[in-house]
Amino acid sequence: MKKTVKDIDLAGKKVIERCDFNVPMKEGVITDVTRIEASLPTIEYILSQGASLILMSHLGRPKGKANPEFSMKPVADKLSEYLGKEVKFVPSDTVVDDAVRAAAAELKPGEVMLLENVRFRPEETENGAEFAKELADLAEIFVQDAFGTAHRAHSSTAGIADYIPAVSGFLIEKELKFLGEAVTDPKRPFVGIMGGAKVADKIAVIESLLEKVDTLIIGGGMAFTFLKAKGFEIGKSILDENGIDLAGDLMKKADEKGVAFMLPVDVVVADAFDNDAKSAIVAADAIPEDMMGMDIGPETSKLYGEAIKGAATVVWNGPMGVFEMPNFAAGTRAVAEALAECEGITVIGGGDSAAAVNQFGLDDKMSHISTGGGASLEFLEGKVLPGVAVIEDK
Ligand code: ADP
Ligand code: MG
Repeated sequence: MKKTVKDIDLAGKKVIERCDFNVPMKEGVITDVTRIEASLPTIEYILSQGASLILMSHLGRPKGKANPEFSMKPVADKLSEYLGKEVKFVPSDTVVDDAVRAAAAELKPGEVMLLENVRFRPEETENGAEFAKELADLAEIFVQDAFGTAHRAHSSTAGIADYIPAVSGFLIEKELKFLGEAVTDPKRPFVGIMGGAKVADKIAVIESLLEKVDTLIIGGGMAFTFLKAKGFEIGKSILDENGIDLAGDLMKKADEKGVAFMLPVDVVVADAFDNDAKSAIVAADAIPEDMMGMDIGPETSKLYGEAIKGAATVVWNGPMGVFEMPNFAAGTRAVAEALAECEGITVIGGGDSAAAVNQFGLDDKMSHISTGGGASLEFLEGKVLPGVAVIEDK
């Protein structure tokens, strides 16, 4: 178990916290505040304990150079609104400078400031020790609450913990609880659902899940590489040419392990990659030569739904079809609804799967929606995330 902000005395302390304020912006205006809202419980808790708080995050890809387009200033303003108190912002092209040091030193208990975009510094993504120390010197305790970058060893996510003790915030605590339990001690039956565009992106996760699950459900674009490996014709469907042999191996491995391996039995096909394309429902072994698979079919949705509803733990990564197009969203919606109805623990990892669940308005029906796409995949692969490894053990 990792230490959290609740395990230490924060009164009168200077705390520096890594948040995930990598929010979508359009012309200087934040277009989605989900990540800011998610960060509030940890921030409010730290302040309520009488600590003074220095927040930091990256935003976009300024590529190691100061760039006003990626300034954290709009985030400071938005946070001020939410917290009902000023979040001080001291602009600095170097993130830390004498003015920033002075502002941090002057912070009183209950006061909060936000640093400029940590990726204005080229050393950040190289985990540069000097920059990590500059950040650490501003405070006495490091709070890690940015799961989305926890799979990267950067100065603000890992290096900083070489100089001051690190504990987790509530977001990381929740990620570790739900993803961690699924990986180490899942309640059974444990159903894994994998989808999305390509097999190649997710092979390591599939391999790792095969060691743990009772049932593995495959949908989305990757399903066609598996169908191809079974010897079916898949028409113009998306195919990972290099992944065919591996897909065959994975199915063999599932068989040896006694894992139920579920592939689509029917498919929604279309004559073009277009919402308004001519479409049809066909059996998985009867995909016409000139059509492409866009979604799992209704019979498949029903079978997958039954398997999901009976599960005690479900981990889902990757949509079942091209859900961005309304005519090909039914399979993803059916799976999301089955998760919503499932009484077991339901965990969603992956940016697009999370977006789909939100789009269907089912987000509050899930046990946990991971905030880190790449980070949650690496976690499910069984990798140690550098930004998690630095957090002290209880
Ligand atoms: P996540 O972000 O949840 O990990 P991915 O990024 O792996 O998911 O995959 C999501 C993408 O996969 C979506 O943009 C979706 O349109 C695409 N996709 C799903 N099914 C198909 C398909 N049959 N053909 C092509 N693309 C697909
Ligand atoms: Mg994605």
